[in-house]
Amino acid sequence: MCPRCGGLLVLEFADDGWFDGWCQLWRCVNCSHRTDPIMERNRQRNQAIAQLVADAEAHLQLCSRSVADVPR
Ligand SMILES: [Zn+2]
Repeated sequence: MCPRCGGLLVLEFADDGWFDGWCQLWRCVNCSHRTDPIMERNRQRNQAIAQLVADAEAHLQLCSRSVADVPR
């Protein structure tokens, strides 16, 4: 499904000079939005990293709070 309009995606082989030879693209038949699988993978990886960082920060805040709550 198209991430922009929810339309149907068709597989397209494109040679746009970005990579050596041809590359695969998903193109929306509705709005012509193109999804590059490599860019999509990078985006998902960046999201996963951002999630890990957010989790680590939340954990750190939790730890520092519990340390501060311990009576001395
Ligand atoms: Zn679309």
